[in-house]
Amino acid sequence: MNETLSKQIDAFIEENRERILWDMTRLVGVPSVESAPEEDAPFGPGPRKALDMALTIARELDLETEDLDHKIGYAYIGEKNAPYLATICHVDVVPVGEGWNSDPWTLTEREGYLIGRGIVDDKGPAVITLYALKFLKEQGGALRYPVRAILGANEESGMEDVKHYNKVEQPPLFCFSPDAEFPLINGEKGIVHGKMRSLCKMEKIIDIKGGAAYNAVPDKAEVWVQAAHAPGREGMEVEEERPGVWHITAHGIGGHAAHPEGTVSAIGLLEDYLLENNLVSEKEAEYLRFVVKVPHAPDGSLLGVEADDGLFSPLTVVSGMIFTEEDHMVQTLDFRFPTNTSVEKIRGILEKKAAGVAVIELEDGKAPFYKDPNEKELAACMAAFREVTGSKEKPFTIGGGTYARSFPNAVGFGPEYIGRERPDFVGPIHGANEAGNFEEMLESLKVYILALMNLEELEF
Ligand SMILES: [Zn+2]
Repeated sequence: MNETLSKQIDAFIEENRERILWDMTRLVGVPSVESAPEEDAPFGPGPRKALDMALTIARELDLETEDLDHKIGYAYIGEKNAPYLATICHVDVVPVGEGWNSDPWTLTEREGYLIGRGIVDDKGPAVITLYALKFLKEQGGALRYPVRAILGANEESGMEDVKHYNKVEQPPLFCFSPDAEFPLINGEKGIVHGKMRSLCKMEKIIDIKGGAAYNAVPDKAEVWVQAAHAPGREGMEVEEERPGVWHITAHGIGGHAAHPEGTVSAIGLLEDYLLENNLVSEKEAEYLRFVVKVPHAPDGSLLGVEADDGLFSPLTVVSGMIFTEEDHMVQTLDFRFPTNTSVEKIRGILEKKAAGVAVIELEDGKAPFYKDPNEKELAACMAAFREVTGSKEKPFTIGGGTYARSFPNAVGFGPEYIGRERPDFVGPIHGANEAGNFEEMLESLKVYILALMNLEELEF
């Protein structure tokens, strides 16, 4: 990077740091958890107010703005209707939950960290992208491509914001989303959810349940079963609730479906217990022997659906829930899969394996996306990141789903750092005491400014 430009950006950041902090404070100060729709507030009044606030901040920075039916909006520089570059952040947040040491809606500073719901995910980055546009505008030169900072209001609960955007706007030439991690996310596995419904009706099992979501390994599962006796087992609660009816609770180690390693499925523990102690009928056992293959092999190998393409980590599958529906047992599926398999292929294999035992219902799912890290847009982003931080880290792929897959040409690009040491009072995104380092956020501003300038140089 040329010295003069580097100094210019540093000076811009110094000049604006108090104002950036104040804008982050105002945006975090708007509780923006989704709630029931109201007139002119399609995701509830909170996300609407946060979108208004973000667009107000943009106008104060001398940027043009557009509000697309209060679902999503954008600030922009350059011509409005020409092929453009974009960033995308969101101003809605997840509920605050328990365990906060300060008011989640009041941005608080401690030892260089800013604490508040949404400061990292994704209100802080949203403000940062507006300042990146402000810098480019103040530079004054003609832009080869206009730049938009897109601001969504429904990322956390359904992404209806970006679906709407794609209905009413042309997609960007290239877009990066500061709603992820540095250095850069160049691929996301495919995701598909499904159910395995028992063909047999329940006989000895009266009720069975565990888990609350497709995408989490459950830490608790329980069953009520008719039996003369059920033996005790360490780590499980086994009690005769009434004569001949036993209530058994298993405890595992929960975790996210994208990272089953290190988790222990409570559903698997419970099924092992029922099978080993012959507490179920032969038909029920047949079903349980089939579905327990999921917790026994999160790589899908016992179901015959394992896959590894060398680009992503191998396929994973977890059962997030088990429950009953009209006297049948239902165990759920959450697959994260690489590029050398597909929903159709997984469905075909499962249906064969389940024949006579279970009905397989798989949703349509989302295909994986993978971008070569050598593509010019990705290289432009990485060059900016390396120049500013000196880091030698490489782009990586993930098992989750982000905004990036909503556009034909997009990636996740910062601003979080995986695995950096943090003080104990720093909480994670989606958790209590969500916090981010202010100097790192300012550094990310420099990265984003440079990345956009690099992208301006490219031929699309
Ligand atoms: Zn987010």
